[in-house]
Amino acid sequence: SLNEYLQTNSHSSESFANIPPIKFTKLFINGNFVDSVSGKTFEAIDPRTGEAITRVSKGDKEDVDLAVKAARFAFDNGPWPRLSGSERGRILMKLADLIEENIEEIASLDAINGGKLFSHCKLIDIPAASMALRYYAGAADKIHGTVLKLSKGLQGYTLREPIGVVGAIIPWNFPTIMFFMKVAPALAAGCTIVVKPAEQTPLSALYYAHLAKLAGVPDGVLNVVNGYGETAGAAISSHMDIDKVSFTGSTEVGRKIMVAAATSNLKPVSLELGGKSPLLIFDDADVDEAANIAFNGMFFNKGEICVASSRVYVQEGIYDKIVDKLVEKAKALVVGDPFDPQVNQGPQADKKQFEKILSYIELGKREGATLLTGGKHIGQKGYYIQPTIFADVKDDMIIAKNEIFGPVVSLMKFKTMEEGIKRANNTTYGLAAGVITKDLNVANTVSRSVRAGVVWINCYTVFDMDCPYGGYKMSGFGRDYGLDALNQFLQIKSVVTPIHDSPWH
Ligand code: NAD
Repeated sequence: SLNEYLQTNSHSSESFANIPPIKFTKLFINGNFVDSVSGKTFEAIDPRTGEAITRVSKGDKEDVDLAVKAARFAFDNGPWPRLSGSERGRILMKLADLIEENIEEIASLDAINGGKLFSHCKLIDIPAASMALRYYAGAADKIHGTVLKLSKGLQGYTLREPIGVVGAIIPWNFPTIMFFMKVAPALAAGCTIVVKPAEQTPLSALYYAHLAKLAGVPDGVLNVVNGYGETAGAAISSHMDIDKVSFTGSTEVGRKIMVAAATSNLKPVSLELGGKSPLLIFDDADVDEAANIAFNGMFFNKGEICVASSRVYVQEGIYDKIVDKLVEKAKALVVGDPFDPQVNQGPQADKKQFEKILSYIELGKREGATLLTGGKHIGQKGYYIQPTIFADVKDDMIIAKNEIFGPVVSLMKFKTMEEGIKRANNTTYGLAAGVITKDLNVANTVSRSVRAGVVWINCYTVFDMDCPYGGYKMSGFGRDYGLDALNQFLQIKSVVTPIHDSPWH
């Protein structure tokens, strides 16, 4: 799993002065890097300074049209869907190898563009990309239907066919992981794809397009159109010639995508949306271990993670001890340059996110929550924010209800398991949840009672390729990872024929 990988690789050290030049800044359509039709570009920003790293071609509706045309042609006429699964798998394996060969350079792109820790990009994000490619490469030759025993002298079977041209719209918090969460299963299934990376983090996606070509992915199979949501993104979700949209992002935009799909060609969509995930810590938990798990759940990737345990409920018997530990840990966290190996938390991804988080912190104070630590931005430039912990948070406060998507957490006290479950479920979201206890009955009751797509028991933020992730309630529907994700890029065809060579009545 990723966690095992992290544990065995956590001592590597890196130099943080050496950021390679940016090689790819155009759109990638039909196997070539091209300018946008309008010729327009936009800035890719370094959140350490708020300054531009480079300018990137700005795709719009016309560019999406060209990319879809290429993807359509590759699907209808090209080799990709017609290759055997093992041949597609071999190319995806090759891409995984190329990614690993270029890991330093790619990690620096996500770090400089997304403010993500360079060490985490190397140990978690980029390895997750090659793991996803290898997982789905291994599944590509195991796609099969079933034989059907039918009545009336008939026999039948099902085929699982690629769904067609896929549109993928992804967010900025895990530019690499999100890219391959969609691309790996879609390509393994035999689909062709048009990806729109988040406008904040286009750089690594373009590098992956380049490597895909080197690996042997045929022209038109993988296209990358950088651009903004309301233009390039909306052109994908409303496109008449895209057969499926796979989206990860906010609930608000997910709703727009569903409307666009419904009012265009009724394409199916899968939506991985926001969360406000509860973590329940029970009295019998080991305090140090529970604090470690909670802290990682709260502040991993600067809190910019959809499954963040942003509501931590602690049973009253150990509440004070857990609070003390968490505050102590938050104060010790080193915030700074994501390329510095001593740093634990980089800058927030962009100015909008930075300002949104700070305004939620001010709101929390106004709502009457107690600010235990943090609460301020750091430095004169860049988007750095202190890890922030609020206590005495009431369930109906806005900071306890809305997704903040930053290093801000609400601590709450509870008495009984029943109360904890009820309060955990008191949310419109249902993405993830956690429970920390030594009591098997409690662990099983909580995990089966909380309405969320993933529940972690005595751990948190653990991802594995074979484990499907996705939301209940307003956190969306559909699953990424696991074979369930592959199935979302396939559709079932039933074929029926008489058993005997005789006219069918
Ligand atoms: P966002 O919804 O604003 O943007 C996500 C993507 O959608 C971007 O590529 C954006 O350009 C595009 N987009 C924006 N408006 C669009 C429109 N009208 N039509 C089509 N596309 C449009 O979200 P964000 O701010 O980039 O990311 C943060 C959100 O994503 C959080 O709410 C977070 O929980 C969620 N998220 C969820 C998961 C998950 O797996 N469930 C993972 C990461 C992030």
